[in-house]
Amino acid sequence: MLNLDARTLLIVESFVLFLMGGLMLLAALQGRRDRTLLWMSGALLIGGAGFVISIARGVPGWRDPVIMVSNMLLITGHACVWAGLRVYVGRAARGRVLLAGAAVWFMLCLWPWFMASDAARLLVFSLLSIGYLVAAGRALWPERREDAGSVLPLLIVLAAHGLFYFYRVVAAVRVPGMSWLLWPDFTVTILEGILFSISLSFGVLILVRAREERRYRHAALHDALTRLPNRRALFEQGAEALARARRESRDMTLLMCDLDWFKRINDERGHDAGDRVLALFADVLRARVRAGDLCARIGGEEFVVLAPNLGPLSALDLADRIRRGLAERASRTTGRLSVSIGIACASVDGHDLDRLLACADRALYEAKASGRDCVRQSAGRVPALAARPRAAGAASSSVEA
Ligand code: GH3
Ligand code: MG
Ligand code: MG
Repeated sequence: MLNLDARTLLIVESFVLFLMGGLMLLAALQGRRDRTLLWMSGALLIGGAGFVISIARGVPGWRDPVIMVSNMLLITGHACVWAGLRVYVGRAARGRVLLAGAAVWFMLCLWPWFMASDAARLLVFSLLSIGYLVAAGRALWPERREDAGSVLPLLIVLAAHGLFYFYRVVAAVRVPGMSWLLWPDFTVTILEGILFSISLSFGVLILVRAREERRYRHAALHDALTRLPNRRALFEQGAEALARARRESRDMTLLMCDLDWFKRINDERGHDAGDRVLALFADVLRARVRAGDLCARIGGEEFVVLAPNLGPLSALDLADRIRRGLAERASRTTGRLSVSIGIACASVDGHDLDRLLACADRALYEAKASGRDCVRQSAGRVPALAARPRAAGAASSSVEA
């Protein structure tokens, strides 16, 4: 085993913390909005500064100021970890709490007995650091429901570091007069510090990147105006849901809704008014469908509802509730609002998304041709998929809403 002196170990630890802090700063400057990485880089750089200063502990006459300042920095480094995770969960960093640990340390250092007792300082330093680590873990804990895979590793890193400090407290209490500067405790402490700073950096990077990815994915699968899933989401999730329904021999209904005379709303009341009507219709859909149903905006003023376990009769009922729901929301600012709806059911038209869309599209066209503001149901006559015709076919089994 290498027998490294305290100075060498401190230099290595400071180097690692500065390196990690610098890399974290680079990552923070590349990203947008998320200040978590900035706080973490601050935590690592402040910790690195604390270790650099502690190298000067051996200089005659410098012992007390070095103990005071270096530990204030190390405690503040832990506080920055807490602040960074608070910022991550959208809460304020709270400056007073951030500096409270360093302030307590400063006050205690004015007390000669405290400065003379290695065990007392170790105890207080560890307890203050554990306090910030526990607070950091508590801030992050609820996030595990969002994405356990990226949150749990960091929680484990914080817990392991806290437990190590707890072990040091127990050691300080059980062995009075123990000097933590003696090998191997000091070596172990420094090595643990290096491991902690590296795993903290990776844990935080994984955490932040995973959330960014979730946000990008959400943006890629949702429509910004109505906040509904978009066409891509419908094809991703709809195909899966249909395959499941086929395996379990369950029915599934697809409603294709197209707002009537929507171009006129844009032309007569402006594009903004048109946008508001789209958002309003999305609200109508959200209020009418069940929790497991998928609503998507697949085009300009075209929306699809994919409803598992819904047969033809209940589908007619749902479509009519949507149609009436929209009419009820019409006001002086929107003018009269209506929607035409085409329905296709997997039990009649087959468990295939393209096919259901084509059948519902044809039924929708029939609703438009019948004067709009009504519901038509596909009768299982599958149109040619290659060129989805928009011409009205022969009379389908339809229900005037
Ligand atoms: P129909 O009753 O036959 O469905 O007629 P329509 O006017 O509703 O249908 P048409 O397809 O002629 O017009 C749809 C319009 O929707 C044309 C397009 O400018 C408008 N549109 C598409 N996307 C948006 C959008 O995001 N916001 C607004 N305000 N209008 C949009
Ligand atoms: Mg349309
Ligand atoms: Mg339309």
